[in-house]
Amino acid sequence: MESRSRVAPWASSRAQRRLTELEALLAGQRADDVVRTVTDSLARHRRAFDEDGIVLYAGTNTMTPRALAVHEATVSSRPSMGWPGEKFQAGLEHLDVLETLAPLGMASLMEGRFAEVRLQSATLANLACYTAFARPGDTIAVLPEAAGGHASHHAQGVAGIRGLRVVDLPYDAAGFTIDHERLPGFLRRERPAVVVIGASLMLFPHDVAGVRAACDEVGATLLYDASHVAGLVAGRRFQRPLEEGAHVLTMSTYKSFGGPPGAAIVTRDEELAERVSAAAYPGLTANYDAARLAPLAVTVAELAESGPAYADACMANARALAAALHAAGFTVAAAGLGWTASHHVAVDAGAFGGGDEAARALAAGGVYLSGIGLPDQAPGEPMRGLRIGTQEITRRGFTPGRMEALAELMRRLLLDKEDPAAVLPDTTALRRSVPAAP
Ligand SMILES: *Cc1c(COP(=O)(O)O)cnc(C)c1O
Repeated sequence: MESRSRVAPWASSRAQRRLTELEALLAGQRADDVVRTVTDSLARHRRAFDEDGIVLYAGTNTMTPRALAVHEATVSSRPSMGWPGEKFQAGLEHLDVLETLAPLGMASLMEGRFAEVRLQSATLANLACYTAFARPGDTIAVLPEAAGGHASHHAQGVAGIRGLRVVDLPYDAAGFTIDHERLPGFLRRERPAVVVIGASLMLFPHDVAGVRAACDEVGATLLYDASHVAGLVAGRRFQRPLEEGAHVLTMSTYKSFGGPPGAAIVTRDEELAERVSAAAYPGLTANYDAARLAPLAVTVAELAESGPAYADACMANARALAAALHAAGFTVAAAGLGWTASHHVAVDAGAFGGGDEAARALAAGGVYLSGIGLPDQAPGEPMRGLRIGTQEITRRGFTPGRMEALAELMRRLLLDKEDPAAVLPDTTALRRSVPAAP
């Protein structure tokens, strides 16, 4: 029998193999060794992702130089609790500027009136909303996992932790959309307190107004999870969830939005905002990381100026990459619907052993992304999709003219099964051929 990991003896055998290998390598390191090991690992990681490789992972981004420049690591270890003017700790007045700029800017950018920006992740943002708008035992209706419904929407995640009953919204897999014909009857039967739309794969906008009308019939609160599309929404592209009728919008600040890791919850309704605020503090946080708000405030201010152009560029790259992948012989999902109306592209990776296997093969050649479920896959089937997001390559200066070369790299790695070691230098060459975006 293989030796068991000491970190997580309950993990999958694949994870345990990797963990036990590292556990043996790293055993008994003294402080100096740890510093060397950590420094070296960070440098290698930075080189792979920020210099040599091409990052198509949808759930990440690179911050702009101006946002990066205002991140002060030492502030993260200065706890900050409560509102400016009545902080639990004395002497934090200089940080009050961040705590005013970030939520005001975020609210206006996302077309709301109030923004809660203190939570560290979108998972916690969703939990704050469940806490504010539902009681244990209530029902919430969410997108099926195969349609990109996130773990934080489902029973295994924070919805379960809040003690909610989770039901899947009726979904039209072929149309990549909620089944609007069945929706009103479904909501009347299930009576959810909250309806969650928005997902981890967002190729097309939702009919927010249509869902809102059905929610109003049963008194449900409509939550739009914009984690992936927040950068497009900031540019008033793709769709305008609050303008179209969502009661509340949650989002990650580090995916297409391109800011520091964290979350925001935005709404136009003061009463909903007050309930969310109480859930965030003193509900789910005590002290929080105020350092994060400096790059967040800068990212928000930059997107208020350049958001439309950035969103357009992300979407143009996605359209061009989808077409190039199709031409290279890949099965791009949603072909009948024009592949994508966002910065996401999904490839059917069934022929490569599923999305996870395909992502591993691409990573060996310096192209980084992840698997994703596809709405029409069989229940229990491993994730069949390969998910691409163009937000980071767009920020790094890639334009539609480069997408054929990028699809070519993916073809060599997945369709031709070329040795990844032979492809990696060409990945790096393509990466280097793109001048850093201004
Ligand atoms: C990524 C994601 C989240 C969770 O974000 P974290 O910041 O990782 O907690 C929530 N909802 C959706 C739809 C996501 O894609």
